[in-house]
Amino acid sequence: MKAAVVSSEKTKLVDVKDVTLRPLETGEALVDIEYCGVCHTDLHVAKGDFGEVPGRVLGHEGVGIVKEIADDVTSLNVGDRVSVAWFFEGCGSCEYCVTGRETFCRDVKNAGYSVDGAMAEQCIVAADYAVKVPEGLDPQQATSITCAGVTTYKAIKVSNVSPGEWIVIFGAGGLGNLAIQYAKRVFNAKVIAVDINDDKLQLAKEVGADVTYNVKNVANVDEVIQKEIGGAHAAVVTAVSKAAFNQAVNAVRPTSKVVNVGLPPEKMDLDIIKSVLDGIEIIGSLVGTRKDLEEAFMFGAEGKVVPVVQPRKLEEVNDIFQEMEDGTIQGRMVIDMYLK
Ligand SMILES: [Zn+2]
Ligand SMILES: [Zn+2]
Repeated sequence: MKAAVVSSEKTKLVDVKDVTLRPLETGEALVDIEYCGVCHTDLHVAKGDFGEVPGRVLGHEGVGIVKEIADDVTSLNVGDRVSVAWFFEGCGSCEYCVTGRETFCRDVKNAGYSVDGAMAEQCIVAADYAVKVPEGLDPQQATSITCAGVTTYKAIKVSNVSPGEWIVIFGAGGLGNLAIQYAKRVFNAKVIAVDINDDKLQLAKEVGADVTYNVKNVANVDEVIQKEIGGAHAAVVTAVSKAAFNQAVNAVRPTSKVVNVGLPPEKMDLDIIKSVLDGIEIIGSLVGTRKDLEEAFMFGAEGKVVPVVQPRKLEEVNDIFQEMEDGTIQGRMVIDMYLK
């Protein structure tokens, strides 16, 4: 079968080549992949930013149809449509796995990084961890919910924002856009979107942001939010910028939660006195559990959340990474395994 494999040559990131899959083991299923989204994380993996993994099949935003199951598998049937997510498998027995915090398992496996992923014609999955894609959800759109969707859905969930309250989303790109949709249409919050790009803020308005600020024009957006509405009740930071994290802390009301999602390789400043006197909580949120993904999918199937996707061929994966580096991509590029 054809697969996008991390190259061992320095001249390109990925080889698209024939790979032979091993036989199924107990607890596993074989999936015919239909679509797989291409994520910034894949680019990091291909470049070796998390450690060199030559020969690894990329892809953690996969959707496909179960073709075969091992004899002992009861959670899936042949013909089910399932997803292949970054959270590929936990150990199932540690304190995090048994208390609903499985993404923090210390022995976690990640698709397209520590195990072979879904940017291929076929993928072997751990059957109990492959979350089913519901009927009525477009499988191309489902690829984005498998990653950006569940990540932002979970972040808003842990922010504890209540209906009618204000939430500020820093960063209105791929993650931020879905965060706005979940915040507005699922959690029924009032949404402030903050970015440095007018096009992204325009899209933010179109999907439901009540107020938008471009920090290029409103540098003191945290002060403005305090002055105009008395501070937000929660903040989710998807921006890859230290300044956004610091502004989030200053933009919220006392006893609010600031949820960190973006991963700039920097430190945020935190005024200790303010954190105590205002009782502010800073929370890191990492993708989502199988249950979170099931819920995130359901809201997609109900049409409340609509990712913007564009189909591409598997052979174009190096071009897509170049476009990512150049910052020319709007929405999500999705490898369509049927496109030849
Ligand atoms: Zn991803
Ligand atoms: Zn575990």
